[in-house]
Amino acid sequence: MNRRESLKLIIGIATVSATATFGRTRAFAQAAGPFTLPPLGYAYSALEPNIDTMTMTIHHQRHHSGFIANLNNLAKTIPDLGAKPAESILANLSGVAEAQRMAVRNNLGGHWNHAFFWDLMTPGGGKEPDGPLKAAIDAQLGGFAAVKDQVTAAGAGRFGSGWAWLFVNKDKKLQIGNTPYQDNPLMDGGRGAVIGVDVWEHAYYLKYQNRRGDYLAAWWNTVNWDKAASNFAKAMA
Ligand code: MN
Repeated sequence: MNRRESLKLIIGIATVSATATFGRTRAFAQAAGPFTLPPLGYAYSALEPNIDTMTMTIHHQRHHSGFIANLNNLAKTIPDLGAKPAESILANLSGVAEAQRMAVRNNLGGHWNHAFFWDLMTPGGGKEPDGPLKAAIDAQLGGFAAVKDQVTAAGAGRFGSGWAWLFVNKDKKLQIGNTPYQDNPLMDGGRGAVIGVDVWEHAYYLKYQNRRGDYLAAWWNTVNWDKAASNFAKAMA
């Protein structure tokens, strides 16, 4: 990186930082279209120290909004894209014209995954599952400690970029796995995700650098188990 490039980077970071200081999730310019960036339900700083403010800000305002901009461009030539529920499109990607299928897979997957991820985290999270979700975890997967270990292993074991999941499979059973890129269990016939964690480097690199395991360990402290319970109920319905 030469001096001009590094200066640009510093200015860029300062701009993001100023935005983070002034509000929760300000609206900012998006390409016109049916897709809008969903706000976080909490401040960018709310998940400190587990996930740092700068990472949350860039992840939401740059990475997620990039998918939104791309989707609004794609929607110009795929009218169904903004009209149908995202879940039904992701569950039936073969219904998208082949020339645009990969773009829809990556960008609609990216949008859905990130919206799911923001909703799954909360300040003061990290308790434990209860109710029907706990009962299913205990009966099918040997308890919460085992689930935590296996989801962590699925995240650590995903080579490169992707996600780790606890999800309800097509047979209505809980299953743990990982997916590459912005794929998710819906694309493979799953009924719904219960929890999911982003293991792309952009999700943790500023604070944890290459220590994905440390990020995953901290991430458990953010999980909103009430939301996970409602995700489970929806997937089983
Ligand atoms: Mn991400």
